[in-house]
Amino acid sequence: PPVLEVRDVTVRFAGLTALDGVSLTVAPGSVHALIGPNGAGKSTCFNVLSGLYRPAAGTVRLGDTELTRLPPHRVAGLGVARTFQNIVTTEGTVADNLMLGRHALSRAGFAASALRLPRAVREQRDHRERAREIAELVGLEGRFDTPVAALSYGDRKRVELARALCLEPRVLLLDEPVAGMNAAERARTAEVVRDVRARLGLSVLLVEHDMGLVMRLADEVTVLDFGRRIAHGTPEEVQRHPEVLRAYLGTGGSGED
Ligand code: ADP
Ligand code: MG
Ligand code: MG
Repeated sequence: PPVLEVRDVTVRFAGLTALDGVSLTVAPGSVHALIGPNGAGKSTCFNVLSGLYRPAAGTVRLGDTELTRLPPHRVAGLGVARTFQNIVTTEGTVADNLMLGRHALSRAGFAASALRLPRAVREQRDHRERAREIAELVGLEGRFDTPVAALSYGDRKRVELARALCLEPRVLLLDEPVAGMNAAERARTAEVVRDVRARLGLSVLLVEHDMGLVMRLADEVTVLDFGRRIAHGTPEEVQRHPEVLRAYLGTGGSGED
């Protein structure tokens, strides 16, 4: 059975149907790419999955648990973490940013640590060690105490990824993880995503415009256009799907004209 299931989800904004009965599933340990032209509804889908939007119709399930009407912090607590299309890091160091993710995990621990109870102090130290491991996992070794403002764009994107991983998710939602990166940074991030997926046994839903990255990382692909699912299959299958060629290129359909 899938780890994540989106079934017949519809989202409307005053007069606009941003998602129109969209369904997809993410198999355990796999990478599912969600692609489509600008405005297709990809980020809207992520906003439904992460609890930011309540759909007009349809359901979202994580295993046996229905997520559809849960608020974002509950969804994150159940194991669905995300990054955003635009970078959302705070000021402060890499460690500060990652400890925000650990904070969400540790219920009373951080409050208790303010009182310097020995168990709480130990727990905070463990969280810090785990955050450091995750920083290394995404290629930020040696940067743990560096101010985020001093990092390159690619490194800041990886801070976001690491912060999501600090929630110890089962499912990771990545919204355009290589947007704005140069070729070297793209290749590095692709490697990091592949590595993290394998080592942490994660299931990934990936929104990405870079077809090269999709071809390299994805096990299956769903294509949206104007809020509808127009194709689904392996990366190779969707790449030559006539509806997909039409959506991207505006051709008559065969792609050979
Ligand atoms: P994508 O991520 O595929 O580029 P989005 O999901 O961001 O597309 O947007 C899908 C459509 O919904 C677009 O037409 C966009 O303008 C519209 N949209 C997205 N969010 C909102 C919102 N909060 N209010 C109104 N319209 C929105
Ligand atoms: Mg967009
Ligand atoms: Mg988007």
